[in-house]
Amino acid sequence: THSGLTPDATTTAVCGYCSTGCGLRIHLREDEAIGLTPETNYPVNLGMACPKGWEALRVLDSDDRATHPLIKNPNGGFSKATWDDALRLFTDRFKSIQAEHGKQSVAFLSTGQIPSEEMAFLGALAKFGMGMVHGDGNTRQCMATAVTAYKESFGFDAPPYTYDDFEQSDCMVFVGANPCIGHPILWERVLRNKNNPEIIVLDPRRTETAMAASQHLQLSPKSDLALLYAITGEIIRRGYVDDSFVQASTTGFEQLCEHVAKFDTESVAKISGVSEEQIIKAAEAIGTGNAVSLWWTMGVNQSYEGTRTAQAIINIALITGNIGRPGTGANSITGQCNAMGSRLWSNTTNLIGHHRFEDADDRAKVACELDIDIESIPTETGWSYDRIMEGIQNDEIKGLWVIATNPAHSWIHQSNAREILDKLDFLVVQDMYSSTETARHADLVLPAAAWGEKEGTFINSERRYSLLKKVAKAPGEALSDFNIFRAVAHYWGVAEMFSQWTDPEAAFRIMQRLSEDKPSDITGIDGYEHLDDCGGIQWPWTSADAKQWAKPYQQRRLFSDSVFHHDDGKAKLIIDDITPMPEPTCDDYPTMLLTGRGAVSQWHTQTRTSKSPVLRKLYPNEPYIEIHPDDARSIGVQNGEQVRVTSRRGSLIANAMVVPTVKPKQAFMPMHYEATNQLTLSHFDPHSRQPSYKNSAVRIEAV
Ligand code: SF4
Repeated sequence: THSGLTPDATTTAVCGYCSTGCGLRIHLREDEAIGLTPETNYPVNLGMACPKGWEALRVLDSDDRATHPLIKNPNGGFSKATWDDALRLFTDRFKSIQAEHGKQSVAFLSTGQIPSEEMAFLGALAKFGMGMVHGDGNTRQCMATAVTAYKESFGFDAPPYTYDDFEQSDCMVFVGANPCIGHPILWERVLRNKNNPEIIVLDPRRTETAMAASQHLQLSPKSDLALLYAITGEIIRRGYVDDSFVQASTTGFEQLCEHVAKFDTESVAKISGVSEEQIIKAAEAIGTGNAVSLWWTMGVNQSYEGTRTAQAIINIALITGNIGRPGTGANSITGQCNAMGSRLWSNTTNLIGHHRFEDADDRAKVACELDIDIESIPTETGWSYDRIMEGIQNDEIKGLWVIATNPAHSWIHQSNAREILDKLDFLVVQDMYSSTETARHADLVLPAAAWGEKEGTFINSERRYSLLKKVAKAPGEALSDFNIFRAVAHYWGVAEMFSQWTDPEAAFRIMQRLSEDKPSDITGIDGYEHLDDCGGIQWPWTSADAKQWAKPYQQRRLFSDSVFHHDDGKAKLIIDDITPMPEPTCDDYPTMLLTGRGAVSQWHTQTRTSKSPVLRKLYPNEPYIEIHPDDARSIGVQNGEQVRVTSRRGSLIANAMVVPTVKPKQAFMPMHYEATNQLTLSHFDPHSRQPSYKNSAVRIEAV
């Protein structure tokens, strides 16, 4: 253990970093965590964990933990306050803003990092109790594209796979995904595959995953949609279509054929930089595979045409009948530990529990289950993250409540984002650390308990609800987010309305009732103990399932009956024209900047990972940028020397990492460094409103 003490008991809990959702065995002494090891029996990670998981406890002890409410002084700096003073200020300021500018003038931004029960409570409290209309999550930055793509294609946001599929495929296609770094334990599952699978990677960089692949299609940035259409065309031309599946279970095949015929292999080879032979070879591997799975992450999602690109991947799985069977699927791997919970429970894009704000029957069901007045439920979907930021800029939003996220670091076009936050009349930041870039802009900081200091459930990428447990005390006066929401309800004067929400497990029971008859039905789960006993349970698990099976069985995938969630039971094959790149390179800005995850040991804005001395040793502490040797030579820079990187929006200094893994006139910079988003372009996918982080034109010069 970290402390050198001997444990007197152990318990298990799900990891709180990424969406893999590894089980960790927590070693306890007198009910307090003193160390951890990966859980060997957990069906997700089978005894493995990445460095972040191993260090999960260490980051709880840090000098900058938020221990007391903090109120900004008129002349700068913060003063400690009591919870009573803090919540009176919270209520007075937000209520007076709403009285002056309307209820919609206060909004919230939440996260994929808190348990589903807290998300559900926050969404219900903010929108039904406090009258907010607009609220969104940082999941808009990572998963919105996959959500929209699935909804439009399948009729429901339903990632169809289970992690066992990594071990069952004989052909795996990774598009804009680098699981060796982003999801290392899932990559370990790939390594356990005994089928000697063909592994095809579509990525502009020669990533760690691309190096391990049997085929690397090193395409030019954002030529992925054209390339996927060309591969689709080859699959169709070569007769690899599963005609009976297409006929029985899809719509739009004729239009798809006509559309992809426009993307002939020869011209797409020129656009993408991938040879005709490579395109044909990939199409052959997919067409002849018996169990083909296609996986994507942020290289697809964080793009100005991400939704259509994700759907081009879904189309390939559908037309080849690679769905609903072991080792198949069109599979988005999500990012944060509870991004999947946010998709169902945050009450932002969907009315809580995947209902619709615009649907009167849905509003009536939610009002009935929550025992609230239907009139308190907004009749329209609130604004997405980008629109909330625009609303602040335009003086439509004056008050903002930020929970467990860090937009002053992570939002696109950072200097603009910080100016926007400073325009607010009142900014509340609720976080486990008081030193985040966003907390520095706050008027009020509310100290929150962290992972390990509270309980609830996370939903991982394979739709598995898993239990988070309280194994440590929160420092000082920090409270769980759940208890902060209870206190806010009290001070706001709506405690009676939320009297059912007594603790996380009571909230879980409410969520179960709201899930009834949805594709994500969890009415068959018999409470937290049941989840703990089973090593988590994948949705759906209905009360009918519970009657039929003694125990939830593992490795459940969706659509094994080939019935999708549109009214006709069919999946839609969706196509679109190619969109021009919003900021192509030019003489002044000749290099295309890609951003992404840099190392296994880093997480997002490093808010937590920078607190671990072990993790800090595993990546460069100073910002670096990967550039090709030809480019380094042309600007006269050696490996490790400083360069200035400039875009139309900002400029930063970074150390040059001269590597052949990026192509000439392309560069890569991890998103974890505070300065990276000074460079990024404010541009969005029109369907999902997800920011397009991966294509900004920059100039790189020697310093
Ligand atoms: Fe935690 Fe993800 Fe690492 Fe597993 S892979 S230990 S869930 S951070």
